Amino acid sequence: MIPIEEAQALVLGSIKPLGIERVDLFSAVYRVLAEPVFSSLDFPRWNSSVMDGYAVRSEDLGVIPVTLPIVEEIAAGTIPQHQLGMGEASRIFTGAMMPEGADAVVIQENTTANPDGTVSILKSVNSGINMVSKGAHLRTGDLLMSAGTVLRAPEIGILSSVGRSFVSVYRRPVVAILSTGNELVPLGHELQPGQIIDSNQYALAAQVIEAGAIPRLLGVVKDDIPSLTQAITEALDADFILSSGGVSVGDYDHVKTALQNLGAQILFQKVRVKPGKPLTFALLNQVAYWGLPGNPVSCLVGFWLTVYPAIRKSMGYPESLQNFPVLPARLTAPAEGTGDRETYVRGVLYQQEEQLYFTPRSSHASGNLVNLQGINGFGIVPVGTEKVERGVDIRVLQVGTLQVR
Ligand code: AMP
Ligand code: MG
Repeated sequence: MIPIEEAQALVLGSIKPLGIERVDLFSAVYRVLAEPVFSSLDFPRWNSSVMDGYAVRSEDLGVIPVTLPIVEEIAAGTIPQHQLGMGEASRIFTGAMMPEGADAVVIQENTTANPDGTVSILKSVNSGINMVSKGAHLRTGDLLMSAGTVLRAPEIGILSSVGRSFVSVYRRPVVAILSTGNELVPLGHELQPGQIIDSNQYALAAQVIEAGAIPRLLGVVKDDIPSLTQAITEALDADFILSSGGVSVGDYDHVKTALQNLGAQILFQKVRVKPGKPLTFALLNQVAYWGLPGNPVSCLVGFWLTVYPAIRKSMGYPESLQNFPVLPARLTAPAEGTGDRETYVRGVLYQQEEQLYFTPRSSHASGNLVNLQGINGFGIVPVGTEKVERGVDIRVLQVGTLQVR
């Protein structure tokens, strides 16, 4: 039995970022850029007004108010025709090109347009005010985005603004999912006595999707060594394989034997954590294999703790974004530990004013999946601690969106 940190290190030590693929911008959302992108343009592309008003020569505004003839109107998307001479102004709008000769914009709130085609400037401006110079934000050839950047809305906007419609990103792993158990049936089957629905298949697939990877549902496998060996063999074209069930010490727990028959390198089989102690991790050539516990809660905890970070690493996420955050939060009710194992107590993490709080759920049975509904965190009760009292701070693994109350 190894501590969870050691298990996580063994897993992450076995995972490398997957290959690279070229995808369109929408397929790149939440993916990690695998190439540096250099700007093909100046930002802005021209000396540009950032306000609606009048382009002027600031030196003409020594004595205020001053009335200037309006020599042209420049809307965004048009090219100025008139070089601004001494004592002249051009009507200009946000995003429009500054005319030659102008060095500032007076916002229209500080002007009065006169019926005779002149404008009275009521407030002076310094050179460079209300405009941005060509290339001020970025110049052609400058590094726009580094490899390793996680692509979200701002980054997609930036890439599109320099004309990129395709980018190179790290591949998403294909994660094969199989469930072991003679008692399991897929959704859509009428349940016979002694049967239960294979809910782990669906919960794990949802987890895989949430993590950004691609689930491949392989269904239920019978609890015998040949069936299991065949199912694992058929899953080997995936990047990762997840199975649930069959990793304890029962007579029907055959995952270990099947892995050994296939020549797998088993890195660990038990983790000092509750729930989720029976957790096998193995390597089959290049493919990482997780034998998660069958208990629905243990299965999900095992995923959050060891599979999620591996998926993120394989997708090129930087180390700082591979794991869920662990935050200190104040307990609103006592949290009970197991003593000999680190205990992950499910519950709700929320923020009220400046303080984070954690409310543990009352039941902690590994099989009670219903009780997992709506949780967004796990309070971590350290090894050797029987109970952490209400009002005391506890470390919480945040696996969902933080609530604000
Ligand atoms: P096991 O780890 O195979 O001994 O399973 C432990 C418990 O989890 C048993 O009560 C199983 O019936 C249950 N279980 C195993 N696999 C699944 C699954 N895929 N979906 C729902 N429950 C499961
Ligand atoms: Mg079983």
